[in-house]
Amino acid sequence: MKILISELISETKSVFFKKYGTEPLWLVAAPGRVNLIGEHTDYNDGFVFPIAIERYTVIAAGHAEHDKHDDHDAAAIADIYSINKEESATIQLDGLATPPQTVVWSSYVQGTVQNVIEAGLRPKNFRAVINSNVPLGAGLSSSASLEIATATLLEAITGQKLDSVQKALLCQKAEHFFIRMPCGIMDQFISAMGREGYAMLLDCRSCVPKMIPLDDSDITVLIINSNVKHELTGSEYPDRRRQCEKAAQLLNVPKLRDATLQQLKTAQSVFDKEPDGTICFRRAYHIITENDRTVTMADAIVRKDWKTCGKLMYESHASMRDDFEITCAEIDLLVEIAQSTDGVIGSRMTGGGFGGCTVSLVESSKVDKISKTISEQYCSKTGIEPVISVTHPAQGAMILDSKS
Ligand code: ADP
Ligand code: MG
Repeated sequence: MKILISELISETKSVFFKKYGTEPLWLVAAPGRVNLIGEHTDYNDGFVFPIAIERYTVIAAGHAEHDKHDDHDAAAIADIYSINKEESATIQLDGLATPPQTVVWSSYVQGTVQNVIEAGLRPKNFRAVINSNVPLGAGLSSSASLEIATATLLEAITGQKLDSVQKALLCQKAEHFFIRMPCGIMDQFISAMGREGYAMLLDCRSCVPKMIPLDDSDITVLIINSNVKHELTGSEYPDRRRQCEKAAQLLNVPKLRDATLQQLKTAQSVFDKEPDGTICFRRAYHIITENDRTVTMADAIVRKDWKTCGKLMYESHASMRDDFEITCAEIDLLVEIAQSTDGVIGSRMTGGGFGGCTVSLVESSKVDKISKTISEQYCSKTGIEPVISVTHPAQGAMILDSKS
């Protein structure tokens, strides 16, 4: 991994030099993430359990040639270039840019910059090159890593530090209001505050993260991209949210986080009276049991009780498949194959659903054999080549270089 990020850094620096003819002054990085367990629990005020992954968005930056301070007619702007998109964009550093009609990649940067400036950090004009080895749009949160890297860059440029929680929240706000994506707090929290060798048990109600050591060299995290993303009607996410809210209402609790399984079972007859009561009951069943599994898995990891971790991951997957109904045939197949492959401890879908990636805990000594088996079997049954990557819990956002 160290090689992967150092290659990413040197490529970014060299593109910066080619474009601007100087070395960058500031260099920052922020990782993507994968959620080990705790799906759709965030908006129910529950628990999630992500790790930062060994894939980063890196930004190299330097002063702009002309600054507003030298030239009063010059606008306060930043020129940014994305190596991934092979495209430049201009970011406004003063005045309030309104959320764009059509979201483009630089909107993530503009939204974040604006919120950081509102928090009191005032960068002079700068220019920057962005580069990422978090795959874009694959469910590993390249968007949060871009936002957190941007906020971290402004910290480096201004020499002022944001409180980490505030930093995560203002990046989340950028995604809500600038991108119009009502995401939870997980992605930005783990990208900002991840620690090498630790997973983060995050209480989405109190926003208090608890770092849980996951540093056994015998254990590796495998991320398998199914390379499938089903475009459904688009109402799946709001439907699930509404069904969870209705279930909480029927249970007379503020959020499903506050309900127990016993309460749910006792209220069966209340649900039965509602037209969509059966569905809401099953949605609540997933959330209540998933919250429990998430906290239990954090405990099991502390005890290095891998057998329990594996069982919880498979149970989580079955619950997403049968009760929350957010998986799909290809993802179910990946988990099924993993379950019958020697050396796999546990496996489940990760992320919003209907495709994307699975996350598995596997024995480190068997990684190559496991990857080969799963890849061959998945490919022979679906005709689709999965993309498999290995990771260990990685460090969150960092300022790698700051020369001013
Ligand atoms: P995910 O966060 O799962 O990768 P999203 O759809 O939330 O998927 O975010 C992906 C979008 O974020 C990209 O389509 C692009 O607009 C933006 N983005 C992320 N990383 C970069 C990058 N390195 N360069 C330019 N745009 C990026
Ligand atoms: Mg995203």
